[in-house]
Amino acid sequence: MSMPWLARQLRNIGLAVTETPGWTTRGRSGSFEPYGVLIHHTAARSSPSNPAPSKNVAINGRTNLPGPVCHVLIDIHGRCHVIAAGRANHAGQAKKVGSMPAGDGNTMYVGIEIDYFGPARTENGTWQPEQKMSDNQYAAAGAAAAAILHRFGRDETHVNGHLETSTTGKIDPYGISMTNFRSHVRARLRGGPPPGAV
Ligand SMILES: [Zn+2]
Repeated sequence: MSMPWLARQLRNIGLAVTETPGWTTRGRSGSFEPYGVLIHHTAARSSPSNPAPSKNVAINGRTNLPGPVCHVLIDIHGRCHVIAAGRANHAGQAKKVGSMPAGDGNTMYVGIEIDYFGPARTENGTWQPEQKMSDNQYAAAGAAAAAILHRFGRDETHVNGHLETSTTGKIDPYGISMTNFRSHVRARLRGGPPPGAV
């Protein structure tokens, strides 16, 4: 499966969208039958002058993790950079959470990466708040997740955080409550089909 509708779906609900060149044909080989959304943060420090520092990594990956590594990257202003229409390396093996079963997360989930630093690890191994998700990022991520779930005909119990599904101790998305986030997505879905969405 591929998601050539992704940019249009996000744009039609009023999100700011940038399409990265080649996104419609970008993806890993292997099975891709998504019906859920997984939320991440990048652990890169974004700023108004460098709003999407992870864009290159999102497209091309990094050592030991070939790209694409998400489908949508949300910059500090809430702009959605559409990265890939096909399978991406973002989820790994997933635990059962909500309505989503255990299994290959890269098959089941659309990946939304939110570009902010999150916490810093201190000398004694604990995490200290460093950079939080911006309000614009939170709003855009909720709207984007709802738009994608609407397309799939699924409810908010199909959007999870990587920290919930991870079998390897991931902590992203840091600094938000996924329970509250799902309520936000639910409210958007309850508002009915967004105008112009397909
Ligand atoms: Zn993650």
